[in-house]
Amino acid sequence: MAIHPHADRLARAQRAMQVAGVEVLLLGPGANLRWLSGYHALPLERLTMLIVPADGAAALVAPELERARATASPAVDIAELVTWSETDDPFTLVAGRAAEPSTVAVDDRLWASFTLRLQDRLGAREWVVASTVLAPLRVRKDAAELAALAAAGAAIDEVHARVPSLLRPGRSESEVGADIATAIRQTHDEVEFVLVASGPNGASPHHELSDRRLEAGDAVVVDIGGILDGYCSDETRNYQLGASDREYAHIHQVLEAAQQAGVDAVRPGVAAQAIDRAARGVLEDAGFGELFIHRTGHGIGLEVHEEPWIVDGNTQVLEPGMTFSVEPGVYVPGRHGARIEDIVAVTDDGVERLNHRPHGLTVV
Ligand code: ZN
Ligand code: ZN
Repeated sequence: MAIHPHADRLARAQRAMQVAGVEVLLLGPGANLRWLSGYHALPLERLTMLIVPADGAAALVAPELERARATASPAVDIAELVTWSETDDPFTLVAGRAAEPSTVAVDDRLWASFTLRLQDRLGAREWVVASTVLAPLRVRKDAAELAALAAAGAAIDEVHARVPSLLRPGRSESEVGADIATAIRQTHDEVEFVLVASGPNGASPHHELSDRRLEAGDAVVVDIGGILDGYCSDETRNYQLGASDREYAHIHQVLEAAQQAGVDAVRPGVAAQAIDRAARGVLEDAGFGELFIHRTGHGIGLEVHEEPWIVDGNTQVLEPGMTFSVEPGVYVPGRHGARIEDIVAVTDDGVERLNHRPHGLTVV
């Protein structure tokens, strides 16, 4: 008989809590709750909270007006639904269920307005973040999650395939970005982010959109992502309007080699930092080391940025099922920038890319 995925995750979370000495886990709306229970709760000022004891039955405390959404989610298969009405105090409800714990793991993203009141009511000695127990579980994706990430990867490939038709001298980054957002909505459930960095704006890795109008000869960095069935996509490619200049073409060639070297280094058993070093080494050898000003990548799943962090100093060992970006970049202040980004999955014996657009500079 197939095990309910959320029942399996709950059992694994409880085992991890027992090992870590955590007596109760408190999750608010967000990725942890969605991963554990399947409930996509709204981040309201009214408290929604999954209460997971290290042993025994879980409870989902939710506002009465959210009963229909909660009941429709898989959360009710693994947790008893306890609703509260407008005149009830949900914090007393949580405290009653949590049974005077001494160690509580609280959602990393829970608002202070909730956390401080819970600390007041529960009076536990030790408070740790939920990722202490959940991150090591969430970091390895199961087959359904890998399929969802592959589908998200294919969807964003489809959007990048349309990008060349949107880039023309005279159009602003914002106009191009609006068209890209439409394409993301057509292929995903939601838009996560749209970066169109043209000309000198490309030198700023997190430049989003501006009113700058594209000019002939511009290099344009397009880094975009959406959410499909809860899972994120994130892919970067570089485009050039008209003939490429020699310096930029050279940078781009080296960057392609760096990204390939990063991906080639991915396999189970190597440290996350080895991927960063492999990509960075190619850029350093070409004299671009100083111009690569960020880490090589980040994990991705229900959140667009999560563990593992692909950065020097991270000795976390890669395991099958981990998914992350490999996205080296070169940024020349005042001139231009370039970044190539694919999402990859660690397989049993190597790596699989979840994005499949060509890596070369696309001249439009
Ligand atoms: Zn990106
Ligand atoms: Zn990324």
